[in-house]
Amino acid sequence: MNEAAPFAREERISWASSIPFMIMHLLPFAAFFTGLRWWDALIFFVLFYVRMTALTAGYHRYFAHRAYRTSRVMQFIIAFVGGAAAQKGALWWAGHHRHHHKYSDQPEDIHSPVQRGFWWSHCGWILCRKYDKTPFELIPDFAKFPELRFINKFHLLPPIALGVATFFFGYALGGWTSAWAALLFGFFGSTVFLYHVTFMINSLAHVFGTRRFATRETSRNNWILALLAGGEGWHNNHHHYMASANQGFKWWEIDTSFYIIKLASYVGLVSDVRKVPKHMMEKHLLKTGAPDLGMFEQHWHNALRALENARVSAGDFYDERKKKLDELITMTKAKVEEITLLAKGSEPAGGENA
Ligand SMILES: [Zn+2]
Ligand SMILES: [Zn+2]
Repeated sequence: MNEAAPFAREERISWASSIPFMIMHLLPFAAFFTGLRWWDALIFFVLFYVRMTALTAGYHRYFAHRAYRTSRVMQFIIAFVGGAAAQKGALWWAGHHRHHHKYSDQPEDIHSPVQRGFWWSHCGWILCRKYDKTPFELIPDFAKFPELRFINKFHLLPPIALGVATFFFGYALGGWTSAWAALLFGFFGSTVFLYHVTFMINSLAHVFGTRRFATRETSRNNWILALLAGGEGWHNNHHHYMASANQGFKWWEIDTSFYIIKLASYVGLVSDVRKVPKHMMEKHLLKTGAPDLGMFEQHWHNALRALENARVSAGDFYDERKKKLDELITMTKAKVEEITLLAKGSEPAGGENA
């Protein structure tokens, strides 16, 4: 188990298809030539916040986890607004996210910093061609709607529409120079910022932060990420019980996406808002001594990787040492499997979905 898998050809960065993504990182700097007006900061903030909420409360909590119900019209609106973030369609996004929960930090996980390193989990997996296709088999419940399949296929439509609208909004406020500033800084700047806020939940939220629950992976609770990403930084809570519409489980765990879902439920836009059941709040708490299998596996994974590296660098002249390392690796693997099986007796919750 747990060897560092080598990068296959289809997992290498596809420079051709990644060029637009890279150019987008440069475009906001072109605003040096146009200058910025006070409203550009406002456009940046509103476009970031609205689309971030559509991704967190919509793409993530609705499409991936069905944490509440809504109408067919509303779900299309959510898919369109979330789509304007240029992170592909809701079916693509949520399908891959379901895969992440199914195999979190295991060799199959699409974006595990434990398995493939930090940069791979942050954006390497997006820059290669391997995951271009929508995994329809993981999201049949929403793939049955033709309008969602349409917007998933033509996923560039919403961001292009928003870009054009932002440009003309900027023009209406202050003429052509203002139009370019609004587009470059307001639209492209906030889109790039939103990319990295979203990616940080896949990368940093499995590396930095604290753990309340003994989950089967390395998820953390991180208040900075929670503030930036509308509550999504309470990632350990989320992995513990993924079907919950709230990811902040305590009153002080700020979760603005949940507040918006709650508000939407008061005015009847959404219903059946799911929350974490009381018994799950008590289950697998680290402070009560639950075995932390997720972190245990990560540490063994790192130890095995170090042993493998030592074996490789031992070279041909040290056959005896290599043999000893081989024995040590075999013994370690056997021990890991033994302890993993034992710990499964007190199986941490992988979270209940749908
Ligand atoms: Zn995760
Ligand atoms: Zn999730």
